[in-house]
Amino acid sequence: MEQLVAFAKRRGFIFPGSEIYGGLANSWDYGPLGTELRRAIKDAWWKRFVQGRGDMVGVETALLMNPKVWEASGHLATFNDPLVECAKCKERFRADHVEGTVCPNCAGKLSEARQFNLMMKTFLGPVEDAANAVYFRPETAQGMFVNFKNVQTSSRRRLPFGMAQVGKAFRNEITPGNFIFRTREFEQMEIEYFIAPPKSDKDWQKVFEHWLADMHAWCVEVGIDAKRVHELEVPKDELAHYSKRTVDLEFDYPFGRKELYGIAYRTDFDLKNHMEKSGEDLRYLDPETNEKVLPHVIEPTFGVDRTVLAVLASCYDEDKAPTAEEGESEARVVLRLPKKIAPVQIAVLPLSKKIELSGPCQELAQSLRGQYRVEYDETQSIGKRYRRQDEIGTPYCVTMDFDSLEDKKVTVRDRDTMSQERVAIADLSAYLTERFA
Ligand code: ATP
Repeated sequence: MEQLVAFAKRRGFIFPGSEIYGGLANSWDYGPLGTELRRAIKDAWWKRFVQGRGDMVGVETALLMNPKVWEASGHLATFNDPLVECAKCKERFRADHVEGTVCPNCAGKLSEARQFNLMMKTFLGPVEDAANAVYFRPETAQGMFVNFKNVQTSSRRRLPFGMAQVGKAFRNEITPGNFIFRTREFEQMEIEYFIAPPKSDKDWQKVFEHWLADMHAWCVEVGIDAKRVHELEVPKDELAHYSKRTVDLEFDYPFGRKELYGIAYRTDFDLKNHMEKSGEDLRYLDPETNEKVLPHVIEPTFGVDRTVLAVLASCYDEDKAPTAEEGESEARVVLRLPKKIAPVQIAVLPLSKKIELSGPCQELAQSLRGQYRVEYDETQSIGKRYRRQDEIGTPYCVTMDFDSLEDKKVTVRDRDTMSQERVAIADLSAYLTERFA
């Protein structure tokens, strides 16, 4: 894990938050490459789950909501973790994360568990009193439930259909840590898929299984190692207050097997509560039967940051690459990212900095920029530049040499096979289109 954290910092994927001021515990900032990777992941998710389907629509709802939302959803009453405190060193732990009654740090005695609410509170306006208290959303889901009627009627959707949202969520976690795995500010990609009230368990189970399978397919799409992904059927007595069935997709992180994503059958819990507490009729008018019904919900939920972590952990690899010396090789780090999400997709490299080469090479880079994420790099030896691109996961390096000026061809090098091919500049666009398809 230290290796991954150091790598992520060195290459500009992820930095410790507020670092020049000594940091802010468990906060992280995404650097240039991390930002591109994150955006590419979110774009791929949106394409797959929203734009790629006829039964999904997207929303972006406010982070701060009327506190009554959190009363109705049950978060104010039950979004708690059990907290224990060490009598000696005063460190606090999540009771379900420690074994026995002894402090894992100093062997002091741990207190009885008490419930700690994870909602992050702030105040709207200049007066800090209870009447102005609001909460940063701990999940993006509720913004979708409270807009169910608005969205359904304005988009004229019929059941089944789903809503999706990507955005930040905040939880005052007792024990954040493990890099970007558990932070107090994080991003989610969530889906609420609304179905007609099921006539039998089979009706919702079918939809649940469909989404669960698609979550696995998504993992493969972004390069998460399928062998490291495991389903955990959450036991009945551990289900969240709203859930009738939950399956966690767990991942083998460098620090152990922990949750990556989750899928829950939330029944009509949320719409029912919001309807009761708001007094608004949130039922759906079935155009065939003319009956008003309360839809049920299947919720697949994905953490953006845990996706980044699982992708980096899955794609990080070390092997050997030949050096300039005949028959010699050296260790190389290679990030085997899927082409679609690589922060740099094509590196354009002139063999020499001389203007005869760098000029046309920059032009070539610019001509590819509309379609791909491109980096132009002319510093250091070509071997070092290849190594650097391998390390950040660039699928293709396009190199121009002095022969290119004569034969109008470039060398395309493949990250994974390290094979090199001479391609006519006139054919380069088609060559790349085929490989990125
Ligand atoms: P955990 O058991 O790890 O606390 P959870 O079951 O509370 O997670 P959910 O409420 O299901 O998590 O949240 C949906 C998704 O949001 C999770 O699957 C995860 O990917 C992400 N997530 C939740 N909490 C955090 C966090 N503190 N930091 C980063 N990502 C998180």
